Amino acid sequence: MSTEMVAVMLGVSLVLGLLGLLAFIWGLKNGQFDDANKMMQGVLFDSVEDLNLAAKATNKSQNTHTSAYKQKEKNKMENIYDIAIIGGGPGGISATIESVIQNIKNVILLEKSDNHSATIQKFYKDGKRVDKDYKGQKIDLEGNIPFVDGTKESTISFFDELLQHHNIPVEYQSDIESINKKDNIFVITNTQNKTYQARYVVIAIGKMGQPNKPSYPIPSSIRKIVSFNVNDCQNNEKILIVGGGNSAVEYACMLAQNADVTLNYRRKEFTRINETNAEQLTQAIEQNKLKTRLGVDIVELFDDNGKVGVRFSDENKETFDRAIYAIGGASPVDFLKKCHLEIDEKGVPLCNDLHESSMKNCFVAGDIGLKSGGSIALAIKHGYEIANEIKKRES
Ligand SMILES: Cc1cc2nc3c(=O)[nH]c(=O)nc-3n(C[C@H](O)[C@H](O)[C@H](O)COP(=O)(O)OP(=O)(O)OC[C@H]3O[C@@H](n4cnc5c(N)ncnc54)[C@H](O)[C@@H]3O)c2cc1C
Repeated sequence: MSTEMVAVMLGVSLVLGLLGLLAFIWGLKNGQFDDANKMMQGVLFDSVEDLNLAAKATNKSQNTHTSAYKQKEKNKMENIYDIAIIGGGPGGISATIESVIQNIKNVILLEKSDNHSATIQKFYKDGKRVDKDYKGQKIDLEGNIPFVDGTKESTISFFDELLQHHNIPVEYQSDIESINKKDNIFVITNTQNKTYQARYVVIAIGKMGQPNKPSYPIPSSIRKIVSFNVNDCQNNEKILIVGGGNSAVEYACMLAQNADVTLNYRRKEFTRINETNAEQLTQAIEQNKLKTRLGVDIVELFDDNGKVGVRFSDENKETFDRAIYAIGGASPVDFLKKCHLEIDEKGVPLCNDLHESSMKNCFVAGDIGLKSGGSIALAIKHGYEIANEIKKRES
């Protein structure tokens, strides 16, 4: 063998030996030999096919996590909340806090009043004793909201502190009017025509909501024909609709198909309505299907031979078979109907055991979901259960 040949072989052996040594040191450093059993089984039993499958599975799981992460980031950029919670009473507060604790942080709590827990603030007498097991209804609370007996004031402070402690984003004075679902995303609209998008919705509006009423009196003899929804309207009636938001315009356009309808709004222009309603309104007016009285207020209602007599601020008077006020607020049943939720004969939304309504991913918490017998603790319990269910669906 020539000397050159020996030198080449020696060189190759040295390089290979060095590579082997480096691989051994790398293996030691990275704990490749820590689990002897795993190492041996891997060597003994993993076929090329197994290794390919393992590699594919790893890739798939990485891709799933990456795409879920990317989707979440995209949602954030498009301002799509994970959960929108409607109603800042015990049920809504609990659903929000429990979701945040479960690490679902892109949430928003929407409350129509200028403070949370409007039912407790408005309807409880000052100093009222508040029982956790209200009217003997014993509730075992499992979540993270340690609600106990107290007073009206201590209960309000308790929720105040919880909202602050968990840094809960609440949007006050957001009176939600409708919920629609488009491509699995909920579009939630308030009376100011502001919209929010979310992948889940929790409705926790309680049962105490009422439609707003006019400031002047409604004579008792015509109360039956002055209403706050369109449930009792008949074909061919002469109807006055009062209001300038989406509800008033929708009622007017819908009823104008079969009745003699006048829409009255105290302003001259409809600045709060959405594009679809604006188009339909213009069309109905242009086609003379709908009359308007704009830029005038109503100053008085009177009984005109059993019909609704109306005196306007421009001194004009007119008589109608029926007047409908759509000037904000809604009864819970009207709200649910507007959101296209299925309800039973008593107006209670149909829900499964998970508090999910007839619309997938739209949940119902607290009093609004009950035939009777609600309590603060029960609403808190619902919120916890709903947050858990949403977390499950998200993992
Ligand atoms: C006088 C009185 C005394 C009571 N005493 C007790 C007691 O001692 N102990 C007890 O456990 N229970 C008591 N209850 C019952 C208890 O108050 C309710 O069961 C509980 O408040 C229900 O909580 P909730 O979250 O379902 O609804 P609510 O507390 O009614 O909260 C609903 C929230 O949603 C908001 N909201 C409504 N509509 C909209 C909308 N469209 N958009 C945005 N926000 C909206 C409201 O402003 C409100 O803040 C009492 C009730 C009353 C009326």
